[in-house]
Amino acid sequence: MAKSKGQRSRISTDVDFNADGKQVGYLRLPHSVHRSAYGYLAIPIAVIKNGKGPTLLSMSGNHGDEYEGQIANSKLIRGLDPKDVRGRVIVLPMANFPAAHAGMRTSPIDQGNLNRTFPGDPNGTPTWMISHYIETELMPLADVVLDLHSGGSSLNYIPSALARITGEKKRDARTMELLDAFAAPISYLAAGMGENRTSTAAAERTGRMIIGTELGGCGTVSIEGARVAVNGVRGILEHMGIVKETDVLRKRAKTRVMEVKDASYYVYAPQPGLFEPFVKLGATVKKGQPAGAVHFMDDPGRQPVQATFNAAGVVICERIPGKVERGDCLFHLATDVK
Ligand code: CA
Repeated sequence: MAKSKGQRSRISTDVDFNADGKQVGYLRLPHSVHRSAYGYLAIPIAVIKNGKGPTLLSMSGNHGDEYEGQIANSKLIRGLDPKDVRGRVIVLPMANFPAAHAGMRTSPIDQGNLNRTFPGDPNGTPTWMISHYIETELMPLADVVLDLHSGGSSLNYIPSALARITGEKKRDARTMELLDAFAAPISYLAAGMGENRTSTAAAERTGRMIIGTELGGCGTVSIEGARVAVNGVRGILEHMGIVKETDVLRKRAKTRVMEVKDASYYVYAPQPGLFEPFVKLGATVKKGQPAGAVHFMDDPGRQPVQATFNAAGVVICERIPGKVERGDCLFHLATDVK
């Protein structure tokens, strides 16, 4: 890792980030494999620019099985006319392209989870090369970064936006304005728990603003999540002054600001087995309340083991597959910010 510090990315592109107009092109990630000795992975990217002004980087497909943001970003690429823009919008709809192409959380090429690889490595395998390119080439071009996630194949969320509060007063105030502008039904502030391998950590390192989302999940496309994504991106563009404000968006309901304080907000499977949930997404629960039970189907005489909530709050995330291993996340909570 130390040897590649400061080395520029090997990824090139056929788009010009400084040219006015709309360009839809590719990042070229050199990928020499058996079936293609001199080949490259073609990662879609779009630049929509008109004159001077702020830059938004809108990413999705960081996790490949999270779809609402990918759809919103493809609509953005087709729908945004450069003449209605002041500044620049860079859209990376399938950030971890091999994962998004396969509809998987992680890359089938190197098993990389893009959002656990920042700051990446210019000499690494594709996932590490991509995170390195995003942190060293794309983020520095942007004032604001949007990283559109959903629950993926294993989780389902109430459509939410999220951000990390840093303790830096000015930055945190700007983050709250961005959450307001995105106007998801819920905006939650996450503790982050020291994680430094995510896009959020990368944006903090490069001094860029960032908010994320959790727009749905179940490895499908939620109608509401897709709508929240499209309106949210539009809200951010208006807030940044990249596009003009519209009445429709000004009349949107205000976001409910919540927080996920610590590890006690999460419930995990205590044993491997078949999980029977006792509560639904959106439920308000008490500390100590039973969350569900793990059944032992190959030992049906054995009593199920209960999982309990370790804090009070609202269930904003639930696990989808019925089969669980010890350590799988079953639910997580959020509480209103007082
Ligand atoms: Ca995700």
